[in-house]
Amino acid sequence: MAKIKDKSKAYLIQCLACGATCSIDKEIITELHKEIYSEHQFEIDHSQLKIKGYCKRCQGIGIEFNT
Ligand SMILES: [Zn+2]
Repeated sequence: MAKIKDKSKAYLIQCLACGATCSIDKEIITELHKEIYSEHQFEIDHSQLKIKGYCKRCQGIGIEFNT
């Protein structure tokens, strides 16, 4: 149904610790999309796609969260 435009917006990874963002290769997302669709017949909303985690810098240090 929904066609994915070639000139789509950048997909982002965002660090939960420092908030740094980085755009990621569209090919990675396309592959992820295919995998998820074939396994679950689930269509990702590309406009909402942001992957969160920890950047290289923040992985190594002790992260203290304010909970
Ligand atoms: Zn970070």
